[in-house]
Order: sequence, then C-alpha cells, then structure tokens
Amino acid sequence: MGLDGREIIVAGGGIGGLAAALALRQRGAEVRVLEQAGAITEVGAGIQVSPNGLRVIEALGLGEALRARACRGRAVRLRDYRDGAEVTRLDLDRLPASQGYYFVHRADLIALLADAAREAGVTIRLLQKVAGVRPGPKPELSL
Ligand SMILES: Cc1cc2nc3c(=O)[nH]c(=O)nc-3n(C[C@H](O)[C@H](O)[C@H](O)COP(=O)(O)OP(=O)(O)OC[C@H]3O[C@@H](n4cnc5c(N)ncnc54)[C@H](O)[C@@H]3O)c2cc1C
Repeated sequence: MGLDGREIIVAGGGIGGLAAALALRQRGAEVRVLEQAGAITEVGAGIQVSPNGLRVIEALGLGEALRARACRGRAVRLRDYRDGAEVTRLDLDRLPASQGYYFVHRADLIALLADAAREAGVTIRLLQKVAGVRPGPKPELSL
C-alpha cells in the first residue's frame, strides 16, 4: 500500500511508535513522531524478541543490525519458584535460523529504531505531549 505524501503523526516514540513510524515512512508517508519525554531513550534491561517480533524487524530492513546487537536464545526454562526445579524447557535451538529468538538491551533496540527512522526521514520531536486527538476527515491534535 502506498502512502505517498500522506501526513501521519505518531504519538509516542517507544518501540511501538518508532517501528510504526519507520514502516509508514517506508511506504511513502511524511511521518512525525511526537514524544513527551526530553530524549528518545529506554530505561530497564533486556527485551526478548520472539520470532514474530523478528519478522517485523526483518520487514523494516533491520534484521542484520538487530542480530549484531543481540544474542540468540538457546532455551527458555520454566522453573518451580519453590525449589527451582525445572518444570519445562522450550528448546529454541530447534527454530530455523530465520525464526530465531533474540535477547537485546532495550536501549539498543530503541536506538536502532530511532536511528533508522531518522535516516529514513521521520521527524522526531521531543517534549511534545499529545493531550488529545479529535478524529474526523481532518483529525485535530491538541498538545
Ligand atoms: C516488565 C516487562 C517486561 C517485558 N518484556 C518483554 C519482552 O521480553 N518482549 C516483548 O516483546 N515485550 C515485552 N514487554 C512488553 C513491551 O515492553 C511493550 O509491549 C513495549 O515496550 C510497548 O512499546 P510501546 O512503544 O507501545 O509503549 P512504550 O514503550 O510505553 O512507549 C510509549 C512512548 O510514548 C510516550 N508517550 C506516552 N504518552 C504520550 C503522550 N500523550 N504524548 C506523547 N508521547 C507520549 C512515552 O513517553 C513513551 O516514550 C515487557 C513489558 C514489561 C512491563
């Protein structure tokens, strides 16, 4: 689907907003991301990228870049909280290479998405808190 020249505003520059902004830009839209915070950043630790998430990252053209920053999971082991005994083990090594299960630091994933979005021509504006959206043929946005 082509979106040539369509103006699209994405409220929020998290993982979801940035991925959506890049995907829309890659289809020709003029995209602006409005982020309430003063920086595009992510606190916290790692995030698991499951095969469906990887499909999206691949479709955005960022598969190789993600793999360079991530480590591939070999297994997920569920344990009994009382004694640590293994309840079940998900053998991720059996997934084909194209469907890997990856672990990446959130800050690295967000930087990857933000850099790619900016490079593609997405405008990211900081300190912009969206207060409301009035839907309609010409939607109105209030800050
Ligand atoms: C403890 C925990 C562990 C998780 N582990 C995983 C995992 O391993 N794998 C996985 O796939 N998912 C995981 N998730 C889920 C995943 O973190 C979320 O689905 C994902 O971060 C959501 O991204 P998002 O961009 O939609 O929202 P957010 O990351 O919440 O980003 C929203 C952004 O919008 C901005 N914003 C909010 N309101 C406004 C406004 N009014 N105007 C402008 N900007 C605004 C915020 O400042 C923020 O930057 C986990 C979640 C938690 C809580």
